[in-house]
Amino acid sequence: MKNIRSITFALIITLFFSFLVGCQSSTENETSASAEENDQQPIIIQGPMPIEAENFAAKLENVEEETSGNFLFYKGEVNDYPVIVMKTGKGMENTAAATAIAIEKFDPKAIINQGTSGGHDPDLHVFDIVLGERMVNIGSLKTGNRDEGEGIAPTEWIPMDLMASEGSAGEDPDAENIRYFEGDKDLLAAAKAVKKTHEEGKVVEGTIGSADVWNNEVDRIQWFHENYGTSVEEMETASGAQIAKAYDVPYLGVRILSNNKTNGGEYNPDTAAANQEYVYKVVKQYISTETK
Ligand code: SAH
Repeated sequence: MKNIRSITFALIITLFFSFLVGCQSSTENETSASAEENDQQPIIIQGPMPIEAENFAAKLENVEEETSGNFLFYKGEVNDYPVIVMKTGKGMENTAAATAIAIEKFDPKAIINQGTSGGHDPDLHVFDIVLGERMVNIGSLKTGNRDEGEGIAPTEWIPMDLMASEGSAGEDPDAENIRYFEGDKDLLAAAKAVKKTHEEGKVVEGTIGSADVWNNEVDRIQWFHENYGTSVEEMETASGAQIAKAYDVPYLGVRILSNNKTNGGEYNPDTAAANQEYVYKVVKQYISTETK
């Protein structure tokens, strides 16, 4: 009787394990089948606001929409190559989270963050475009030491590099540096190759500064231009750059001026569509040179 019981028990265990193995191999088969269908890594185009994403999304072929939290992904194709346009929402937090999620979900070949910006360089005008040769967080600052009643002095604030070490950025003198993220060379090359197609303004390489701040004080704007070398400011590019660097994914910011307080350039929302037209050509150029 004891024997029969242990044989039955052994049989149940064996059946259970072969069931588990069967389940696992069928999942493996499914994964490899879908990977075979689409073995090309997509290019991701990020835009914060509807006016900065929907025009590009409308250019995609075979589009499927997917959402994750606040983020909307338009998954489609350009010239038969997978391209995903994402509406990230505004600001550094949205962009950082959206970038991490996109990398984990889609294993992209490259990411372009694009949209509008405000000029810091008086030689740049509304409709000019800046390619982010460098991207920098201009909200990462440490104030001077001042006691109660001594006031505030923003021009004495110094940069704080949150990536310098795992120790306290407030105490560590090594953290008192400007952290620049570099734009990917191949994405930059594709963007430079189609510069002439942007007829509404010029296209230059420069430094994109980002923070959850809209600066309207011209002296402060000039301070950033002189101390950080910023060409433009906006609220997204540097945070995406930081996450893309953490995962080693090629990344570039492409920002059109929608306003420039330093030379009286009034805000023009039509710049958002013009930038997407240009970035569409950059993507086609990148596909033709980097994915064949
Ligand atoms: N609530 C604000 C508008 C914010 S729009 C207001 O009513 O004034 C902010 C978006 O525009 C961000 O996605 C940012 O990237 C972009 N942007 C354009 N010009 C900017 C500037 N001069 N400073 C900061 N962000 C700018």
